[in-house]
Amino acid sequence: MATTENAYIRTELEVRRERLLAASQSNSADSSLPQLLASVDAALSRLKTGTFGICEQCHESIEADRLLYDPLVRFCLDHLSAEEQRALEKDLVLAAGIQRTLLPRADWSVDGWQARYHYQPANLVSGDYCDLIESNGGFLFLLGDVAGKGVAASMLMSHLHATFRTLAEQHLPLQKMMEHANRLFSESTTAGQYATMIVGYARPNGKVSYVSAGHLPLFHISSFGVRPREATGVPLGMFCTTRFPVCELELEPGDKLLLYTDGLTEMFNAAGDEYGVARVHALAKKHAAADPEAMLTACLEEIRNFSAAAKQTDDLTLLVLHRAQ
Ligand SMILES: [Zn+2]
Repeated sequence: MATTENAYIRTELEVRRERLLAASQSNSADSSLPQLLASVDAALSRLKTGTFGICEQCHESIEADRLLYDPLVRFCLDHLSAEEQRALEKDLVLAAGIQRTLLPRADWSVDGWQARYHYQPANLVSGDYCDLIESNGGFLFLLGDVAGKGVAASMLMSHLHATFRTLAEQHLPLQKMMEHANRLFSESTTAGQYATMIVGYARPNGKVSYVSAGHLPLFHISSFGVRPREATGVPLGMFCTTRFPVCELELEPGDKLLLYTDGLTEMFNAAGDEYGVARVHALAKKHAAADPEAMLTACLEEIRNFSAAAKQTDDLTLLVLHRAQ
């Protein structure tokens, strides 16, 4: 670890040591305190001898973010004890539960519109973001994909959720909302952390405005066919100041929009072929007449057939919006 981080950790450990010493002098001191004190002393001694942050089993570096969070860890993620692994799994199950509460209702509908989605993390938690927010008589629909996966991506996903939920209450024009969200996201992430996203606003009369921040094309499914709509800007969080051009669409009764994350397009079959956008296009055409629920079911069935025995390696989200007849 960097010297400044080590200095920070040493100070932290010394503060904890003082606290532990004070607490252990109390009459009602917990019996675990001497053991904790020994662990803190051992970590301080590792700092002194230069072995701090080295896994005691494989002698590789321990993940830096874990050390900052808990300077007492002695093993890398690959070499946790069975007890530590159980604790980590428990934390992840809890995080997955929290993440599920951030999702919209499964049977979502508002004036003249119906929405159905499928949200499937590759592991316990997902870096995909999906939300529907009623606003000013219409509703906002949001679908995004944070770069990377796992716990770090899921934390950024919940960050996006909180950001957009807060901004939605201010009823800003779409472009302004994206600019604010982008600035907030850029300021709170490090380089290399960004999210591709589609954010749209649908009105009861079928008019839809949307922004696509570097996201995969969305499909407009109508009686005239299926039309892809490409991204209009760069991903969120990539540059502090950037503009997000707004596009307009008009949906007739019966029309649908299909949005998805790269868990769909970057899925592979047993022969090593990637699913790709062209197959999504064909999929949308094939099921153009289906209602949103049937469309999702059919899509998932085709995806399962395509990937067969291949393991799901990326988070997958599908969102279908339907302008009711
Ligand atoms: Zn190790």
